[in-house]
Order: sequence, then C-alpha cells, then structure tokens
Amino acid sequence: IPVAQLTLDQAKKEIAPLRKQIAQWGKEYYEQDSPTVEDYVYDRQYQRLVQIEQRFPELQTPDSPTQQVGGEAESQLTKVQHEIPMLSMGDVFSIEELMDFNHRQQENRDVDVEPEYNLELKIDGLSLSLVYENGKLVQGSTRGNGNIGEDVTENVKTIKSVPRELPEPLSVEFRGECYMPKESFAKLNAQREADGQSIFANPRNAAAGSLRQLDPTVTAKRDLDTFMYYVPEYQKLGVTTQAEALDRMRELGFKVNPHNRVVHNRQEIEDYINEYTAKRDQLAYGIDGIVEKVNDLETEEALGNTVKVPRWEIAYKFPPEEQPTIIRDIEWTV
Ligand code: NAD
Repeated sequence: IPVAQLTLDQAKKEIAPLRKQIAQWGKEYYEQDSPTVEDYVYDRQYQRLVQIEQRFPELQTPDSPTQQVGGEAESQLTKVQHEIPMLSMGDVFSIEELMDFNHRQQENRDVDVEPEYNLELKIDGLSLSLVYENGKLVQGSTRGNGNIGEDVTENVKTIKSVPRELPEPLSVEFRGECYMPKESFAKLNAQREADGQSIFANPRNAAAGSLRQLDPTVTAKRDLDTFMYYVPEYQKLGVTTQAEALDRMRELGFKVNPHNRVVHNRQEIEDYINEYTAKRDQLAYGIDGIVEKVNDLETEEALGNTVKVPRWEIAYKFPPEEQPTIIRDIEWTV
C-alpha cells in the first residue's frame, strides 16, 4: 500500500516489524560487517519508514532507526567518546529531490541567492576520525553509534596514507573515509576463498572488517587506504570554505580525493553527477554517490544538524549497479 493511502491503524501494524527488520539489517551491516541484503533493498525500506513517520508523527519514537546513527561499538575494542558527534547523512535518489533539498535549505535560511556548493565523491568505506595533538597522531576511531566509537589507533597506524606526524604542531580532529581499493578487495576475497574462509560482501564491508580488528598485524596485511574530507573545528585551520579545508588537508600531508568541484547552479551540479556516474567504474575505489556540501563554513555552522544528519550536506545516491535497467526503474519509482 502506498504510504499516502495508509490508515493510522495500518501504519501502526506495519511500523513495528519494519523497524525491527531495519534494525536487524543495520546490526548485520554496521556491527558484523556482513550484510544479508543489497543496499538498495535496505534504502527502500528505510525510506518507507521515514515516509510513514513523516505522515504519522505520533508514531515516531526516539529508538527508531531513523533517529539513530550506525551501530554499537564492538564490545572487545576500547570505546572512544566523540566530543563532536559523528553523524550519518541524508540521501536523495534523483536530481529533482536534490533540488528540492536545496530549495528547502535556502528557504530555512531565508535567502534567495543560491549558495556555492562543494561537490565530492561519496567514498564507499567507513568513517574514520583522526585526532592530532601538537602535530602527532594520538587517536584513530570509528563512528560507532555516533557518540561512542571504537579505538582503532594502532590499526590506523598501519595505513600508509595516514600521517603519523603533521608538518605543523596542530591539535585538530580530522575526519574522512577508510576504504579498500577495488583491486585489493578482489585479491583479498580470492585469497580467502582459496583458504576456505568466508568472503566479504563488498569493499565497504571488507574495509570495515579489516579496520575493526583486535590485532593490528591483521589490519596491516589488508591494504587499506584513506581519503580525508572534514575538519569539524575548521577555524583551527584558518579556512573559511570546505574547498579550502580540503586544500589545507592536502598541504598537511593527508590523502584527499582530487575530484571535488565548487559549483553554483543546477546545470553545474547535473554535469558533475553525470560525469561521475559515467566515470564511476573507472575509479580504483568504490563510490556510492555524490556528496553536496555548502561551501561556506560559517553557513554550514549556522545550518547545523538534526540528531542524525547534518543540514548542510546531502548524498545523491547512485541507482544500484547490478540491477537490469527495467527493474531498476521500477525499484526507484515505487
Ligand atoms: P552513509 O554511509 O550512506 O553516508 C554517510 C557517510 O558517508 C559518512 O558517515 C561518511 O563516512 C561517508 N562519506 C563518504 N564520502 C564522504 C564525503 N566525501 N564527505 C562526507 N562523508 C562521506 O550513511 P549511513 O547512515 O552510515 O549508512 C547508510 C548506508 O548504509 C546506506 O547506503 C545503506 O544502504 C547502507 N546500509 C546497508 C545495509 C544493508 O543491510 N545492506 C544496512 C545498513 C545500512
């Protein structure tokens, strides 16, 4: 039944098992690094839950998956409290939805000039926080449930692209994505298959499973890489835009994805999306969409966050890859 036609009673009946199913898939994906369904199946059910909660706000609960980030930290790893929460990200599945999001954002700010956006590739890995004190790497952690993550400092030190020391004595937290290149993922799975071990569902889960290891020597063998993309306390770097923050991170020796672009209007946004939808397969790493961020960091701060997602950024998600076009069209119009 389309959400618009649901009665309150029908919605009540549907919502509990729907939440339970989504929470179960979340646990498998975030905590066990072992999803049992494709992302587009998860996304579709998740969107339905969002729509039901929007239509019947009285059914909203704080423990709904729509109000929570990620999964719980692995019990055997040391826990880390994130002073600034590590959030999830809202998503849209078409240019129209993206434009609606931008218009709503403008309305909320009560301005009629289109802001500059910085577009970036959405790297398909897991979020990573790196804390430096006086220029030295002191902590690496995962997102976990957004407030409590896992300490993976020793594991992170085995990743070549993570600087142990910065050229300046900065005390700053940097955030980005830890991922496994496609080729390394294929090799790892081939090896695991040959050894009779279970294989990873995709590079994202292989990266998560490899970073969240109790033994750093296992992580060291896994060929993980990083792209850093965010500095929560940007003032500490003396930058005023997201594009400048990326440049500054490059200067400091981080690996930063080279494909970001500052854009000003719908045409430029569409061009970027089309370009990278076409180039996606040629990249050495997986991407599952495009991230649009307000470029001006003061505006970003003013827009702020909900309990789960920032209001200043949004993910445009690619349609699922393996589905034949006809099925894909049906999946995305329901
Ligand atoms: P998300 O992973 O879709 O988006 C948020 C994340 O994007 C951030 O935390 C960050 O790590 C990452 N990111 C990558 N590139 C970035 C960039 N350039 N700038 C900023 N952030 C960037 O959100 P989520 O809530 O963690 O997870 C939802 C996703 O996980 C969906 O794609 C969903 O399909 C999938 N999922 C799948 C299952 C399943 O069972 N298959 C279960 C749960 C979630």
